[in-house]
Amino acid sequence: MEQDEEGFAYPRIDRTVCIGCGQCREVCPIRNDKERTHRERIYLGVQAREESLRFASSSGGMFSVLAQYIFKRQGVVYGAAYGDEMEVLHMQADNMEQLDMLRKTKYVQSRLDGTFHKIEEQLQRKRWVLFCGTPCQAHALRLYLKKEYSRLVTVDLVCYGVPSPGIWASYVKYLEQRHRGRLTDFSFRDKRNRDNGHGRSYRIDEVTYTGSLYEDIYCRIYFKNYILRPSCHSCGFCTVERSSDFTIGDFWGIERVRKDMDDGMGTSMVILHTKRAEEIWSGIKDQTRWFSCKKEEILQPRLIAPTQAAQRRKMLMNLYKTLPFSLFIKLAERTIG
Ligand SMILES: Cc1cc2nc3c(=O)[nH]c(=O)nc-3n(C[C@H](O)[C@H](O)[C@H](O)COP(=O)(O)OP(=O)(O)OC[C@H]3O[C@@H](n4cnc5c(N)ncnc54)[C@H](O)[C@@H]3O)c2cc1C
Repeated sequence: MEQDEEGFAYPRIDRTVCIGCGQCREVCPIRNDKERTHRERIYLGVQAREESLRFASSSGGMFSVLAQYIFKRQGVVYGAAYGDEMEVLHMQADNMEQLDMLRKTKYVQSRLDGTFHKIEEQLQRKRWVLFCGTPCQAHALRLYLKKEYSRLVTVDLVCYGVPSPGIWASYVKYLEQRHRGRLTDFSFRDKRNRDNGHGRSYRIDEVTYTGSLYEDIYCRIYFKNYILRPSCHSCGFCTVERSSDFTIGDFWGIERVRKDMDDGMGTSMVILHTKRAEEIWSGIKDQTRWFSCKKEEILQPRLIAPTQAAQRRKMLMNLYKTLPFSLFIKLAERTIG
């Protein structure tokens, strides 16, 4: 994989050793994103009963409730965590203590490295496996495995699009230089103000810095659509018709649908796509407060169409490619407001 000038990784094929078997094309989730399953689905609003668990999660904690189900069966869970340099990569958790590193949304494209290979090994050893990632990642896993495993549970996220890992790495260094220390945690969904996770916080040398998500320049250039991977702007997974077992996201508009449940601590929007999902749900629903709802009540922009690129995306990316990062940040602050 090689990083391009925008900071995204792409595969480079060494034509001198490629045998032209076409396997890579067959398992590419972007080329093969048209798999659609037209079936009845179940739409839910969910909050984990355990408050500490919900506080530590981005939305209602549905991911952790699912992980508990897997650990009870001696299974393993894969999700996105921070590495030693605060890069985002998929890792394995074997128990609830380790799960902590996988919790919470990281607004950075995660690296999968050897994850699919490890998952295949676990499945061949008949272990339960839960994989959670963006819809293209979950779809890629199924294409890679090529066969159904009864102990594999796939969960995909409602996804706004993934930002550049290169820009994130530069931002990490920028914060470290600014505060003269080492960044050890960054929460994109801090709930200390009970505002459904619209805060962000980060820790440098044991000092925690807090603020609004929308004051943070990295978050602003993300949410204003300047730094998403180009393919996210034509994403084929912005629909409810997905083929994972579960889709999870934020329950947008909870204040309209169930005002009594909007306590500012987050509610998960959950779609059950498969029979397996329905079976698992019947085994875990007692650990949650939940309600069923109509499709229209859970619909939000990223279940209908992909995020549109900012008109001046190219211009901002050119600044990133050519300027020192601190100058890029200054100009970004001025340009996008
Ligand atoms: C890039 C991105 C964009 C998103 N956009 C939307 C959106 O537009 N609308 C919406 O409703 N929800 C969106 N979400 C999902 C939402 O933020 C929550 O992650 C989701 O509701 C799960 O919350 P939870 O409380 O169940 O679990 P949490 O404990 O918060 O779990 C989060 C799960 O997401 C996984 N994850 C975190 N970061 C990444 C990453 N970079 N790549 C792959 N997997 C990751 C973790 O491993 C974990 O499994 C997005 C998430 C990401 C990562």
